[in-house]
Parts: sequence; structure tokens; C-alpha cells
Amino acid sequence: MHAFDLPQAPLHPLNLPWLENARVEAAILRLDLIDPLISGNKWFKLRHHLQQATASNAPGLISLGGNHSNHLHALAAAGKRFGFATAGLLRGHAQDTPTVRDLQALGMQLHWLGYGGYRARNQPGFWQPWQARYPGWQCIPEGGGGLAGAQGCALILQQARAQLAALGWADYDAWWLAAGTGTTLAGLVLAEEGRHAVHGALAVPRDHGVAQVLTELAGRQGYQLHDACRGGFGKFDDELLAFIADCERHTGVPLEALYTGKALLALRQQVEAGLFAPGTRLIVVHTGGLQGRRGYL
Ligand SMILES: *Cc1c(COP(=O)(O)O)cnc(C)c1O
Repeated sequence: MHAFDLPQAPLHPLNLPWLENARVEAAILRLDLIDPLISGNKWFKLRHHLQQATASNAPGLISLGGNHSNHLHALAAAGKRFGFATAGLLRGHAQDTPTVRDLQALGMQLHWLGYGGYRARNQPGFWQPWQARYPGWQCIPEGGGGLAGAQGCALILQQARAQLAALGWADYDAWWLAAGTGTTLAGLVLAEEGRHAVHGALAVPRDHGVAQVLTELAGRQGYQLHDACRGGFGKFDDELLAFIADCERHTGVPLEALYTGKALLALRQQVEAGLFAPGTRLIVVHTGGLQGRRGYL
């Protein structure tokens, strides 16, 4: 095991009436269960950055996010676990949320950028003053995106494959997962090299700057994006909340409303619309994010 590896995410059958009706078999890969603190796909996206920080002897890691950010949460927890200092640049003005309290408790230095300051994050020169303030630190793009983030997600594929036999599956047909920046999806598409289709349920509007990382996939086949945002990132409606409660009741798997709930609801819609032939076997990725749920559910 590599120094930055965490235990394997369990893969178990996902039984829901609407899957059964369509004779679609699904198993869910529980990235939410890999660790009490360093949860979900954000951990996989951080691995390469942690390795790079080690290789360059960086004293710390710095990144950006909002006040419910799963990414900053995973970064702060990983920093504490593996002995790196961390700093977080936050959108908006100082606020007290369960996530923010955790970041502070995990020792992350917080800087509130306001909204305008945060909007400047993609401009050239944005990182300069922070690099001057935190010399030698590893800067991680918003959400842990980019190719380094995608490469870390190849491990998700290995973790699932290692557990197929225990499910009694010789193989599977496709992946289904929530997508925000598309980094996790890109990692799976790159690792699959066309062997199995990857379906991304987009939790953000298409024009939201998804997918800079998807340019890495130019010319590749074997992936498909489905709209799952239901009116915007972070917008919830009654149907979504009722669906989440119903799924949790049937499966015992906790979901949140920003990504995993929307991804499963979009899956139900596609399954009911006949996207998958009877007998199809799907691996659904639970991308985590449950810590953020404390802020709004
Ligand atoms: C960040 C996040 C996503 C989106 O991941 P991308 O790699 O940006 O597409 C999906 N689900 C959860 C729970 C997340 O926290």
C-alpha cells in the first residue's frame, strides 16, 4: 500500500424497485465509507497532489472552495492525517458552518476572499500573492480538478474491479456517477481506455465551466453526460428530497442533495426511459459529500 492509500471502498448490491423493474443490476461503490474524515471522490483527486507535495518538500497545501466544500474538508483532513499544513481560500465573507468549524478544528488557515475576490481565481496572477505568503506550498486548483486530480481517480477503477468476483460478477457494462467539474469522470474514462462506458450525471449547469478537464478526453469515446442539475447547482426541490428519503429507506445508503441524490434521480429517469437494456450491470459510484449535508438538510 502506498503511504497515501486509504482502505478500499466497499462495493455492494444496490437494490431499488425501479432497477428491478427494468432488470438492471447495480452495485454501489461506497467512497463515502473509506474514512471517517477523508471521504469521497475528493480523496482520490487529492492523492497526486499529496504525492507532488511530498516530492517537492512542500511545507503545505493551499486550495479554494465554498463554505460547505467537500474538497477543502478532505484537504484539511488529509493535511492533518499526513502532516502537511493547509490553507483554504474561501468564497464570500466569514461564515460559521459545520464545514467551516471542521476546517478550523483540523488546523486549516482560512482566508475569506469575498465574492469578487473569489471570482478572480482563474485570472493569471491570482496565485502570486498567495505563493509569496506561503512560499513553496503546493497550490491545488478549485475542487482538486485538473489532470493530476483525474489521474488519482484511476484507483477507483482498481478498487471496484478487485471486488467484482465477490459480487458474483464476471464483468460490468457501465459506470454511473455524479459529475461537477468532470474530473472524477475523466479519471475513469482515461483508466477504462474504452472498455466500459462511463455515464456522468451533471450536477451543475453545462455552461458552468465544467469540463475544462474534459478537454483531456478530446477524441475519446465511451462516456456520456446527462443533465442532472434540476435548475442549478445547490438547488433542491421537493421531488428530489422525497426521492432521497425513499432511496435511503430502501437501501440504507445515505445520500446528499448536491451530487449523489441528483445522480441517482437522473439514473432512475434514464433507467425508466430505457437507456439500459435488461441484464445491464452498472457500477454506481457514491462520491461521498455527506459532511456537506449538515449545512442544509
Ligand atoms: C465534488 C463532488 C462531485 C463532483 O466531482 P468532479 O470530479 O468535480 O466531477 C461529485 N460528488 C460529490 C459528493 C462531490 O463532493
